Amino acid sequence: MKKHWIAAAFVACLLLTGCGAAEHTEDETTGSAVQANTEQPVSKEIFAMDTYMTITAYGENGQKAVDAAQQEIERLDALLSTGSADSEISALNASGTAQLSSDSAELVSCALEINESTGGAFDITVYPLMQAWGFTDESYRVPSDSELTTLMETIGSDQLDWDADNRTLTLGDGQAIDLGGIAKGYTSGRIMELFDECGVESGMVSLGGNVHVHGAKPDGSKWRIGIQDPENSEDIAGVLEVTDCAVITSGGYERYFEQDGTTYHHIIDPSTGKPADNGLTSVTIVSADGTLADGLSTALFVMGVDQATEYWRQHADEFDAVMITEDGTIFVTEGIADVFSSDRTFETIARK
Ligand code: AMP
Ligand code: MG
Repeated sequence: MKKHWIAAAFVACLLLTGCGAAEHTEDETTGSAVQANTEQPVSKEIFAMDTYMTITAYGENGQKAVDAAQQEIERLDALLSTGSADSEISALNASGTAQLSSDSAELVSCALEINESTGGAFDITVYPLMQAWGFTDESYRVPSDSELTTLMETIGSDQLDWDADNRTLTLGDGQAIDLGGIAKGYTSGRIMELFDECGVESGMVSLGGNVHVHGAKPDGSKWRIGIQDPENSEDIAGVLEVTDCAVITSGGYERYFEQDGTTYHHIIDPSTGKPADNGLTSVTIVSADGTLADGLSTALFVMGVDQATEYWRQHADEFDAVMITEDGTIFVTEGIADVFSSDRTFETIARK
């Protein structure tokens, strides 16, 4: 857990002071650029959704916006968490059918769309596998092949019966769902809406290192967001300079356990029932749509770099990506290549 905190704090530091590893100016490293040109931000750190979060807003309504954001995070956490027995999703998983709130319904609709477009790489029915591997309660273990074979019968969004008009979801036999792969992106998107409603023009949230920025920084410059080096939690692999978008990363290093010299992480390949093992160590998605960015960060991690590249080429108008492979190669899609900087060389993926 400490790791999450360090990562979240590190990203927040980058945003507020601009202290990136690459290409920083003298002003940025000292943080004086922000302080000289603008009012002080209102910033709050909270623990929710199993991770440390930072909410920051500038301007006269900053406090109101940060308080509203905190309430929204806590409301959505209570609704969506599989970790609390009385959440809406836990009730659905226990009973097998439920009429969902509008938030959960929107998430389920988005999850099913992403499931379809990614050929099943993103699948909210992985929850029984998350339980079997012990990720839901930290009772980590490696399930036997026969246990996985049996469990795999319950995996597949095609077994879900979703009545969108009535917002009613009915699970197949033995199924349970987990919105952990998109809930934070949806939440950060909601916070951007709240910032708008509060009249805040400049702000950001970091939900366990998943960042969503609103507008530009108060001095008009872009936000600088560090992408963690998957091999070293205290280092960054590169910096993105962006406005008005979500920057959401999935990495095997975020949650894992080791057994007999092998590392098992929390992103499951729905086609094998095992932690995805397709050569990627992290995938960062940049998109105006937080829910999509979160779902795709998980899905492209499962796909591996070749399939993910093909997917991006077909959906280049919806998002961009930074992908890091096991050998340390950084791939950046063309749409963000000129706002990405790194001490290392990186390869640009062209549209073709
Ligand atoms: P993220 O950190 O956004 O990649 O999400 C990882 C979380 O999503 C895990 O902790 C699970 O709750 C869930 N999850 C794991 N594998 C998948 C998958 N293939 N599709 C959808 N959700 C998943
Ligand atoms: Mg995700």
